[in-house]
Amino acid sequence: MVLRIIDVACPICQCPDPQPLGDPLTDVENRVEGRYTIARCQVCQFIFLSRRPDAESLNQCYGQNYYTAVATPKNRFRQFLYALRARARMHRLLRLHGRMPQSLLEVGHGNMEFLKFLGQQFKGRCQLTGTDIKIHAIHAPDPSFNIRLVEGDVGSLNLGQSFETIVMYDVLEHIADPLIALRNLHKHLEPQGSLIGQVPNWNSVWRHGFSRHWSGLQIPRHQNFFTAKTLRSLLEKTGFQLVSVHNVYDPGDLSVSFCNWITDTLKLQTLSRRSWFFIPATLLAAGVVALQVFLLRNSGEIEFKAVPLSSIIK
Ligand SMILES: [Zn+2]
Repeated sequence: MVLRIIDVACPICQCPDPQPLGDPLTDVENRVEGRYTIARCQVCQFIFLSRRPDAESLNQCYGQNYYTAVATPKNRFRQFLYALRARARMHRLLRLHGRMPQSLLEVGHGNMEFLKFLGQQFKGRCQLTGTDIKIHAIHAPDPSFNIRLVEGDVGSLNLGQSFETIVMYDVLEHIADPLIALRNLHKHLEPQGSLIGQVPNWNSVWRHGFSRHWSGLQIPRHQNFFTAKTLRSLLEKTGFQLVSVHNVYDPGDLSVSFCNWITDTLKLQTLSRRSWFFIPATLLAAGVVALQVFLLRNSGEIEFKAVPLSSIIK
């Protein structure tokens, strides 16, 4: 695999001279070759991967082991955790949007975990659509769910309709040009609709604790790193108004960071998200992360709701 690595300007304000945050880093999770630089824009404060694979090379960085390309693990406990997460996500979605939407688009539906769950729960009362850069047949849903799937780049998609709700969970950090992507999603959202998403929180205490092993880095697959403040700026620049941001309880932030640290420090062959490794670590992390969220008011993931302004602000 030969990756083409390039230096880029700030994707939000195009400032060409970002300030590197520390030394170049390697991929400790999937061990993609190369060294990459995280930098902060000196004008708009946006944090991003300033030295990164170009668009064509980025697709190669996901590899054959990435969770969207392989069958969902058969491990029953892991499936139980996935279902728990999908249920919690659905309840938050209903609360944030205020009602069950009649149409919903999931951007970056990955292994279809959430769309399939919604298909079971909504039972045809909500029109469900998913889009991803690559659709893997291995995750195809039961036709009875009636879920429309569209393969393509979120920045240039034209789905021919607008949606009452658009959701994107752990997607915005992967997108090389979030400005173009969000502007295109704005065109697909009904005037009274909601955009709901989740991103890793740059201000997570575990980033400070685990540094280059922090689960939210995932370089070079993650291109953008968000705080609530930079998220607000990005949304406002793309025609949205940020309505709310809140912490999401996610033990994976600590357990994956810990597994990254162990595998890298001990030079283990296994990847840090293997079930036998990941599940015990997640169980151990569950209590600690509860303290992080409820006592420290801090989390590894933040969820937001935004609504469209009447027109795009250029
Ligand atoms: Zn900038």
